[in-house]
Amino acid sequence: MTLLLIIVAIAVLALILVGVTVGLVGRRTKPAKAPVPPRSPSAPPTTVEPSPTAEPEAAAPSAHTIERPEATASRLVRLRQRLAGSNNALGRGLLALLSRERLDEDTWEGIEDVLLTSDIGVAPTQELVERLRTRLRVEGSADARTVLREELIALVDPTLDRRLQVSGTDGNPGVVLVVGVNGAGKTTTVGKVARILVAEDRRVVLGAADTFRAAAADQLATWGERVGVEVVRGPEGGDPASVAFDAVKEGADTAVDTVIVDTAGRLQNKQGLMDELGKVKRVIEKQAPVTEVLLVLDATTGQNGLIQARVFREAVDVTGIVLTKLDGSAKGGIVVQVQRELGVPVKLVGLGEGPDDLAPFSPEAFVDALLS
Ligand code: GDP
Repeated sequence: MTLLLIIVAIAVLALILVGVTVGLVGRRTKPAKAPVPPRSPSAPPTTVEPSPTAEPEAAAPSAHTIERPEATASRLVRLRQRLAGSNNALGRGLLALLSRERLDEDTWEGIEDVLLTSDIGVAPTQELVERLRTRLRVEGSADARTVLREELIALVDPTLDRRLQVSGTDGNPGVVLVVGVNGAGKTTTVGKVARILVAEDRRVVLGAADTFRAAAADQLATWGERVGVEVVRGPEGGDPASVAFDAVKEGADTAVDTVIVDTAGRLQNKQGLMDELGKVKRVIEKQAPVTEVLLVLDATTGQNGLIQARVFREAVDVTGIVLTKLDGSAKGGIVVQVQRELGVPVKLVGLGEGPDDLAPFSPEAFVDALLS
């Protein structure tokens, strides 16, 4: 009996020992949570592979790389597609209507509607329709596309001088004053025009005279940095005329070819705007004559853009129009209306947010893009 008890006790002890051992081993083999290594401050940031389709110009430039802007000829070819893309409803609509077998009253009304929706304006629409009707009647066999192309080009007026006046006389730099309401694309246009001039090997200084919007001067500084162009700026809220003066003085002292001056475009008070722009111009002209005043208008704003144009025309002698955001607008007809309204030519068109998406305006290329 005692022997039996001893055997049982030994067996129980053995079982306990085995159990403890297995438990320990089991606990040890439990998968341990991988330790999270502390973030090393010197660890490189996560890099994102550039997509193979990304355009090289989209890459953020390093502070030390000076970009070579695209030449004018190549940007015209590239941007023509963009113009065609947003405005071809106009050209196609007109061609579809004109190529009908019978040009009855309904068709002519349809043609008028297409023209009016593209913002050409009432008077130019009526003139164009009248000329098309006469020519197609008189020249019975004429090709409607050819006639339409010729008449549209005539309406946009190929006789206007669209060259930018960027050169000064008597040893002065050319001075380009850029005006327009906030949001129209003014600062962006100053940066883009600088790139066009740099691509033509001209030396440029920029003046950040929009001292009311803190971001405007920073924005301009970035544009300048990218192409190695000096940007003269003043204190935030400072006197715009004094920044403009300093910029033109710097341009004259360093003998650059052109100084481009950005301005503030607050429209809430017409008298204030006129006083401010008038003063900026007067003060600049103590240094050197202003050779070009570019009014920047957003093509998508239609009639509103025209109202703005009138106010600016009263404030300062506008010599050329820059129509921005034509890439996003099917209302290319505004070119015709705004030229008539102001009596000055559209000289440049903005066709995107890319740094080289600004092109000299050519009536033939514009009309061909509409009809492509
Ligand atoms: P500002 O207040 O008149 O100086 O206007 P900005 O130069 O700051 O431009 C306002 C916005 O319009 C920005 O987001 C620009 O990128 C955009 N912009 C300017 N020009 C064009 C253009 O031609 N096409 C498009 N799509 N956007 C443009």
